[in-house]
Amino acid sequence: MLNIVLFGPPGAGKGTQAVKLVNKYNLVHLSTGDIFRANIKGETALGKLAKSYMDKGNLVPDQVTISMLEAEVDKNPKANGFIFDGFPRTTPQAEALDKFLSSKNTTITKMLALDVENDELIKRLLERGKDSGRADDLDTAIIANRIKVYNEQTAVVADFYAAQNKFEKIYGVGSVEEIFNRLCKAIDKQIVSN
Ligand code: ADP
Repeated sequence: MLNIVLFGPPGAGKGTQAVKLVNKYNLVHLSTGDIFRANIKGETALGKLAKSYMDKGNLVPDQVTISMLEAEVDKNPKANGFIFDGFPRTTPQAEALDKFLSSKNTTITKMLALDVENDELIKRLLERGKDSGRADDLDTAIIANRIKVYNEQTAVVADFYAAQNKFEKIYGVGSVEEIFNRLCKAIDKQIVSN
């Protein structure tokens, strides 16, 4: 299986690139943010709970997020592999994912981290907020909190995969196509060496 963690701060371009990668490598895209938003739209109990955290730019609690993610993986028993987008976002989530995947005799192939400077992130998020309908993209205070949460709780997840020699940084500024090619190069290199 090819299991990629697409990593990076809010606004780094994970969602855009994930869609292109799933097409090229025939993978299943699991975006925790998208799944939470679908639950909010469907007014499920999970959606109501998630909304109370997301509206402030805080993380949804680990246990809730982990259970949901595992259920989504289990819905796709025939998958060639997965792109994890927005997950894991904390070290406990990364540990849980490792344990869960090894119980299925598979593992994370690689973490690809999109690297984009702060000013560019804020610019992109405010731009997206104009038509995404996402309340968390409209307010500079919420955006600032999301970046703070990323720096305080999420950035360390890179160390978890670096310790397993699975971490690679990809420059996330340029055209969508240029960034996509950088990601593909990193994945193809990995496929050859596996
Ligand atoms: P972005 O990467 O632009 O912040 P996402 O769609 O990935 O957007 O996430 C939106 C929000 O959903 C996050 O701010 C957080 O509240 C919640 N969320 C998404 N993934 C996770 C996760 N793995 N753990 C906890 N909360 C999450």
